[in-house]
Amino acid sequence: MIVDTHIHLDDKRYKDDLESVLNRAREGGVKRFIIPGADVSTLEYAVSIAEAHSDVFFAVGVHPYDKEQFDTLDFEKYVNHKKCVAIGECGLDYFRLEGSDEEKEAEKREQARVFVAQIQLARKHKKPLIVHIRDASRDSKALLLEHSAKDVGGVLHCFNADDELLSLADEGFYFGIGGVLTFKNAKKLVNVLAKIPQEKLIIETDGPYLTPTPHRGERNEPFYTTFVAKKMAELLELPLKNIKETTTKNALRLFHIS
Ligand SMILES: [Zn+2]
Ligand SMILES: [Zn+2]
Repeated sequence: MIVDTHIHLDDKRYKDDLESVLNRAREGGVKRFIIPGADVSTLEYAVSIAEAHSDVFFAVGVHPYDKEQFDTLDFEKYVNHKKCVAIGECGLDYFRLEGSDEEKEAEKREQARVFVAQIQLARKHKKPLIVHIRDASRDSKALLLEHSAKDVGGVLHCFNADDELLSLADEGFYFGIGGVLTFKNAKKLVNVLAKIPQEKLIIETDGPYLTPTPHRGERNEPFYTTFVAKKMAELLELPLKNIKETTTKNALRLFHIS
């Protein structure tokens, strides 16, 4: 089986055919689904999906792009829900920084504040972190180390293939691998893959985004993690069965689900 550790099932692009999306995935061997928290406006919907399906779980958190929502989010209301398995996705994303240098610095400080607050909540509630990092490896790593994220660990979702983040494997972190692995221009990720300890590899769609080959350009969906698993098996020269078993074991261990 495969665990899709990062799938935005609460996205409007799944609204019309959610049940068939889930069933296609299940028939293809994808048996657990984790909805990361990102945009608070769809969190209630994410919870309702998890409540309606025994194989769907959710996380509570605020994406760096939606950081304004953090201060009004009633974390405690969600974090103790029996299907809440993690905090996030939270992190730093410098990809879209705009304005003057001062404005950029202010934006970075605010992202850091919201990220640190979520690391602290994760430690308080003993839940792993789903971490989103884009163009911000050094600062993200520094905050994770400084605020003892090791106590709970987590996943560097959509791992950006930065060598400098590999040492977080020793700090309780896993590496979320998705459709990017199948892209023609994914040389960096392909090269770094073998350096990730196998007991720290997990699979994700990040759907509806980052659709793997041969479906690029279409909406991504959990069934397509099967293409990611196949590519991983090919690159690591391991039987597909082993890849599925190992990544599933890893995901269940990290998120404390069975
Ligand atoms: Zn993300
Ligand atoms: Zn995401």
